[in-house]
Amino acid sequence: MATPSHRIMAVVKATCYGHGVEVVPILSALGVRDFGVSSVEEGYELKKRGVQGNIYILGGLLPGESEAIVEEGFIPVVSSLREIECLEEAGKKRGKETVIHLKVDTGMGRLGFLPRDCDDRILYRVTESPFLRLGGVMTHFASAESDPEYTRRQFELFSQFLRRFASQRNGLVRHCCNSASFLKFPEMRLDLSRVGIALFGVSPNWEVELVTQKGLKPVAQLKAMVKHIKTLPPGFRVGYGGTFVTTRDTRVAIVSIGYAQGIFRNLSNRMDVLVCRKRARVIGNISMDQLTIDVTDIPEAREGDLVTLIGRDGEEEIRAEELARLSGTIPHEILCSLKKVKGRVFLHGDCITSP
Ligand SMILES: *Cc1c(COP(=O)(O)O)cnc(C)c1O
Repeated sequence: MATPSHRIMAVVKATCYGHGVEVVPILSALGVRDFGVSSVEEGYELKKRGVQGNIYILGGLLPGESEAIVEEGFIPVVSSLREIECLEEAGKKRGKETVIHLKVDTGMGRLGFLPRDCDDRILYRVTESPFLRLGGVMTHFASAESDPEYTRRQFELFSQFLRRFASQRNGLVRHCCNSASFLKFPEMRLDLSRVGIALFGVSPNWEVELVTQKGLKPVAQLKAMVKHIKTLPPGFRVGYGGTFVTTRDTRVAIVSIGYAQGIFRNLSNRMDVLVCRKRARVIGNISMDQLTIDVTDIPEAREGDLVTLIGRDGEEEIRAEELARLSGTIPHEILCSLKKVKGRVFLHGDCITSP
């Protein structure tokens, strides 16, 4: 999907978007050498797994974290003079050079130097320090999945900013793409792309085609189990608050997963699950660790059956994008919210073969 000189940084923050840190060795085995995390804690977690390669701290430095960054050889993305000074100080103490990437804010309004604030004084501070080395320059798109015009404007501002480094271009890694821009604007890939959600086969928005047209498939499946089945008479309320009332003899199945495991409560009475290769609607409010589905039209459903909340069963498929749409959020939030509960909820686990 990319030119030979182009690298992919696997963005694996939030325990690999809820997939579990077990994903990291798989990515390593596939040849990924650049990993992006949010915090120093997450960086440690990767180190513990024996990750070889670059570990980028994308989420900024909290006061007091620079020593650990220098010590571990993480690559921090810096957005302020304070961070630069702290890293230099920590480097001096340990006699160690730290590679840093500079972040410029071209329209996200979050971390990053405004281009006008990143003056020569700051650049010299980095380039003249024996303890700092400028390894790269980056920016982050705010609306790559929804606003091509704004994204092009951000890219233009970034390109302008990069011209300041024209004389030291060799070796400087330039990067701006997240999944949405990586998929939609190949011309913006530059030297490195920071790919998160697409790595897991999921679209950055509700448009499934964005990833399916590239041949990407979701790696995660989420399954739970039918723990009880019974038939309720007409006019019977289901769940807290009685938000569903039966209108017929209704065969219900109680499933071993709820909002504590990351199934948002606002999906009550809206989302489907798969059981016996068929769709069944969740009825009544989702509870903390269980939910109820209507299996009146699935007479073959039995206690102990596996229920698919995300994934395939026969011809049917439920994707994170569908849940995101029904919940009014983005697929990222659906995935990051999933939690494994041993023995009750089967999140990916043996379902992951390769990303
Ligand atoms: C999370 C993150 C990404 C990845 O975003 P996706 O939409 O998941 O691809 C890229 N860059 C930065 C700075 C991030 O924080």
